[in-house]
Amino acid sequence: MARILITSAIPYINGIKHLGNLVGSQLPADLFARYNRARGNEVMFICATDEHGTPAELAAAKAGKQVEQYCAEMHEVQAEIARGFRLSFDHFGRSSSQRNHRLTQHFAGKLAENGLIAEVSEKQVYSIDDGRFLPDRYITGTCPNCGYEAARGDQCENCTKQLDPTDLINPRSSISGSTNLEVRETKHLYLKQRALRDKLEAWIDSKTDWPILTTSIAKKWLNDGDGLQDRGITRDLYWGIPVKKGDAPWPGMEGKVFYVWFDAPIEYIAGTAEWADAHGKQDADWERWWRTDKGAEDVTYYQFMGKDNVPFHTLSFPATILGSGEPWKMVDYLKSFNYLNYDGGQFSTSQGRGVFMDQALSILPADYWRWWLLSHAPESADSEFTWENFQASVNKDLADVLGNLVSRVTKFAKSKFGDVIPAGGTFGPQETALIADLAARIRDYEGYMAAMEVRKAASELRAIWVIGNEYLQSAAPWSVVKTDPEQAQAMIRLSLNLIRVYAILSQPFIPDAAQAMMAAMGSNDWGWPEDVSAAMRTLPAGHAFTVPENLFRKITDEERADWQQKFSGVRA
Ligand SMILES: [Zn+2]
Repeated sequence: MARILITSAIPYINGIKHLGNLVGSQLPADLFARYNRARGNEVMFICATDEHGTPAELAAAKAGKQVEQYCAEMHEVQAEIARGFRLSFDHFGRSSSQRNHRLTQHFAGKLAENGLIAEVSEKQVYSIDDGRFLPDRYITGTCPNCGYEAARGDQCENCTKQLDPTDLINPRSSISGSTNLEVRETKHLYLKQRALRDKLEAWIDSKTDWPILTTSIAKKWLNDGDGLQDRGITRDLYWGIPVKKGDAPWPGMEGKVFYVWFDAPIEYIAGTAEWADAHGKQDADWERWWRTDKGAEDVTYYQFMGKDNVPFHTLSFPATILGSGEPWKMVDYLKSFNYLNYDGGQFSTSQGRGVFMDQALSILPADYWRWWLLSHAPESADSEFTWENFQASVNKDLADVLGNLVSRVTKFAKSKFGDVIPAGGTFGPQETALIADLAARIRDYEGYMAAMEVRKAASELRAIWVIGNEYLQSAAPWSVVKTDPEQAQAMIRLSLNLIRVYAILSQPFIPDAAQAMMAAMGSNDWGWPEDVSAAMRTLPAGHAFTVPENLFRKITDEERADWQQKFSGVRA
């Protein structure tokens, strides 16, 4: 039994994510977790909400709430939607947890001990009326280059000139509009990534099995321009993890917090500790996943994320871990995704464009979305959601191929042979051929799943459903029953067993339908079909089954047009 640690990039707290976010990390991570559990491996699957930083503060202010309360509520909202999509996290944690506070402070302390933290004095704009320093993006003013009046402190949107906040004419706070600003000196901590450059490069070079998409992004950051830069890891904010050196105060850093990008990936570890706490377990129980000196040496660690997160996971987070000098588990395989586009454009959270996770579940069950998203995952290139394609894929793959097979077999079996699996006949050449074909395809499916080739796995699963239909079509038990009822019984016995095997194979993609199929077969035997021939005989003659409710309904042209219209504009 292998030990598999899986983390999905953690979604930011402010608001509900769209389907592009879902397919870029959480959903394929769930597929992989479900598959590994189905194969009997020991799995730890961790996700969390990413809660710190200015956007959370501003979203809370806009909602008229304290940021702590806002984050607690939004965490529950995201957790509920994750359950709706059947995301099977072992724990869905919070980066604002006390566990993450302590671990983040611990790592910072170790980095300082190892001489990898620099204290740097900087000049920053302070808003007297807001009582806070303003990050570049929260200062607005007139561009000195083109005269555009709403230029941001980091860049003018109109002429694209890169700016410093102090360049702006008539600067004002984007939060309150106040012009009562002054430049103050403030001290920040920098992680000396340049000092870790060679170690990081050697580590990345050792990952010869990583996809080009991943390593090329990492190499670009290591080598382009002046190469990897030291990185500020603190901010002058209220909402975050207070800067401490382990348990000890950090003189001169009072009132400051760690930058959200420093603490967020540490939450993968802290989330596992939260899992232990939530289940009344000991530190040793989570440490055996993360500390190679405490049992994690046989763990294989997989990360799932969108391509925009790759630099942080190949450089920044590894710099934290390597720099600590402690034996923490580092990622073995990093699966990154391109973008999913929406109907001729991009999904956009800020513009509310596309389908958001809560909206998706309000119109169709999770399995419909899971199937389409995974079978069209943006792996080798960006992919696009269109309503036509969604309708076609659901109606054909799920309703016509899989749903129809289950319905035909169970209804025919019940009407001709009653409520139990019929005993007559023996498997002939057609059945033997199907079993051989199935066995070969299941081995291919296993290979794609193990390699996290999501689209290929989906396509192989679809092919596995198709050969069942082809078998039925050619064996035609509804004709054979008239001339050779014994043989028709053998065909139906095989077909009912096939439904159970389909439930097992399909469960990582469409867990609810898989449950319904297994329940209809009156079984709870989810054992993986290692031996396909035996698996096709698992349910014996005389075993009771039922006809399930229709597994999938078709999407009508009218619904498609209606949804296309409804989701074309801006989310209210
Ligand atoms: Zn300008």
